[in-house]
Amino acid sequence: TGPTIVAGEILVEIMAIERGLGFLEPLELTGPYPSGAPAIFIDQVARLGGGAGIIACVGRDDFGTINLERLRHDGVDVSAVSVSDRYPTGSAFVRYRPDGGRDFVYNIAESAAGRISLTAEARRLADAAGHLHVMGSALSIAGLKGIVAYAVKAARARGGSTSFDPNVRKELIDGADGAHFAALVDDADLLLPSGDELLAAAGVDDERQAVAALIARGVGEIVLKRGAAGSTRFGADGSRTDCPGFLVEEVDPTGAGDCFGATYLTCRRKGIEPGKALLYANAAGALNVTRRGPMEGLAGFDALDRFIFGTDRAAT
Ligand code: ATP
Repeated sequence: TGPTIVAGEILVEIMAIERGLGFLEPLELTGPYPSGAPAIFIDQVARLGGGAGIIACVGRDDFGTINLERLRHDGVDVSAVSVSDRYPTGSAFVRYRPDGGRDFVYNIAESAAGRISLTAEARRLADAAGHLHVMGSALSIAGLKGIVAYAVKAARARGGSTSFDPNVRKELIDGADGAHFAALVDDADLLLPSGDELLAAAGVDDERQAVAALIARGVGEIVLKRGAAGSTRFGADGSRTDCPGFLVEEVDPTGAGDCFGATYLTCRRKGIEPGKALLYANAAGALNVTRRGPMEGLAGFDALDRFIFGTDRAAT
């Protein structure tokens, strides 16, 4: 028991409207949208009715306000979000390449998110948590490493669980601590990688070998995200469950992975069996990519049920 918590960056996202244009010339942008992987994740937990809290830092500005209002509105405990008078809320500018890839220009390390620290409120939230979700980005912000270490210990001390999404973007990986990363993988009750991240976490180039190696290292279960193709769950008992993706028109892929992971985790914490949890998670990820803005397509169980019963499944 106890809420699911996350710690990390809250920012806004501002994106190019058209695909294929770089930032080298003026182009039309849209935003700001509330964002930050931990914020997307925890907002979706709350939308599904799970207890949810976030440890973070925003600036005293409009970018901070739109995030705090959204999180509060959706039911996230924001008492451990500190507000900096000195540093602004961070931002990410995104543009989409013609091949569907994305390029980001980040302002995070020198923003309020980089000032995150283990405040009394953060300790209180961590001490009460039933589950801690950690993201790869935790390795890229100095103050976050200490918070994650404290929160992992606190969760363990209460018999709580942890999950890890090794989503370290190449733009943020500088200075990442390899040993810390490996420890977060090994400690995870639930690992939520995409294909490349699975292989990188295991240090091998074959999916089956990677799964076997990680389970042998102590990972409780692995849920692999396969983009439009859906997802696969690998249990510690050697079981494998595939769930094909839903057929949707992708408008904006940012946030799908966090929305998916939050949905799978929250379903499991509510006692929903793995196969059904995967189905809900696929639906949540698919719905999320149909909306512009990383948190705009988040959905509760009612909306997910309507989507699942009303949409064709991809033949993968
Ligand atoms: P990101 O880091 O951009 O958040 P990710 O690589 O962690 O993404 P994805 O595999 O892209 O995660 O997406 C997570 C899940 O969302 C997928 O497993 C799938 O269920 C769903 N999903 C993502 N993209 C699509 C799509 N185009 N069509 C249908 N479902 C999708």
